[in-house]
Amino acid sequence: MRKKIAILGSTGSIGESTLEVIKKDKKNFEIILLTANNNYKKLIKQAKEFKAKNVIIKNDNFFLKVKNSLKKNKTKVYSGNVSLKKIIKKKIDYSMSAIVGLAGLQPTIDAIKFSRIVALANKETIICGWSILNKLVKKYKTTLIPVDSEHFSIMELTKGVSNNEVEEIIITASGGPFLNTPKNKLKKIKPSQAVKHPNWKMGKKISVDSANMMNKVFEVIEAYKLFKFDKEKYKIMIHPQSYVHSIIRFKNGLIKMILYNSDMKIPITNILYGKKMNFLNIKKIDIETLNNLSFHKVDRVKFPAVNLIRKSLKKGSSIPTIINASNEVLVDMFLNKKIGFLDIVRMINEIFKDEDFNKYAKRKASSINDIKIIDNWARLKTISMCVR
Ligand code: NAD
Ligand code: MG
Repeated sequence: MRKKIAILGSTGSIGESTLEVIKKDKKNFEIILLTANNNYKKLIKQAKEFKAKNVIIKNDNFFLKVKNSLKKNKTKVYSGNVSLKKIIKKKIDYSMSAIVGLAGLQPTIDAIKFSRIVALANKETIICGWSILNKLVKKYKTTLIPVDSEHFSIMELTKGVSNNEVEEIIITASGGPFLNTPKNKLKKIKPSQAVKHPNWKMGKKISVDSANMMNKVFEVIEAYKLFKFDKEKYKIMIHPQSYVHSIIRFKNGLIKMILYNSDMKIPITNILYGKKMNFLNIKKIDIETLNNLSFHKVDRVKFPAVNLIRKSLKKGSSIPTIINASNEVLVDMFLNKKIGFLDIVRMINEIFKDEDFNKYAKRKASSINDIKIIDNWARLKTISMCVR
């Protein structure tokens, strides 16, 4: 039986990596659904190449273009905010949740309901919606596996391990494109420089998050939500070579780490094949290249984003949703050259000082609607702070 898979955000970096893995083993996969926001050309190409059963182009303006191009194919075409549950009615084997931003929350919730395994790359959804996802995962008996390399590694390293056994968990950071750029040069950074990550090719939003280290703020929150370890145990360290993704220091004196190339096809392949892995079509690490691994502390003055970590890890609080919303707005403004690179973290800190901040931060979010209220407030507040 071919494995049925849906790829949400198939035209992005993670979506494409997933299709690259499947391409080597097409006969064993049936593509039930591919989705994209605007990139209709790539979506059409993918639908034809992989004989997708269904596609969604989120932006309605491109619906007819996609529909006409796939006229001769058996692919069904949808657009707008169509519910995934209306398209996929029977259980499928996998969903890859690889939409960027909180826009991925509802599709991920649907995917948990109709998939046996959800590979979850969309970290914004974990950060803001974990309590909802977690309940549904239990209710529908879905297996949820994090794709983010650090979290995939923590999961592998701590199977069957209790909080008591662990002393610390180090999430590594490459340091991004500005690791060696003097602080006084950061003010004038252009979007084209910020999206050039030295070790990974990723979407624009996560590339900017990596450049100012907001990505590590999100990753510590993500780990805190996903795993059962105390928040004080999480640390971050710069490791420019990006071979080691996470390190666990156990109380018994042992340290364990997982090394692999900075290629997202590795966690993706592992999730799709599990123990039945019989091929891995990626470059192997020459062990001698590991002779020069380095690890050092983060410069908190140059990367003040990391100071947000401790401020965000409060049990039950909606601070992560506020930071995420504000950051999504600010990254977009930076990419559109409306604000400077350093303004992103500066403005996120400003929102903490707003008179309504505590009201929203304390709000419990037990439904999508609750999250939307907090998310909306933070987005509007951020925009109004920027035009002031
Ligand atoms: P990307 O920008 O390359 O791709 C995003 C995908 O989502 C595209 O297919 C796009 O069409 C779709 N999309 C965007 N906005 C949408 C919307 N409003 N509605 C529906 N679809 C929408 O991003 P990426 O780098 O592939 O990252 C995807 C997610 O995975 C992010 O949450 C990111 O943080 C996470 N992640 C990525 C990497 C990586 O190496 N790229 C690593 C770890 C985690
Ligand atoms: Mg990561």
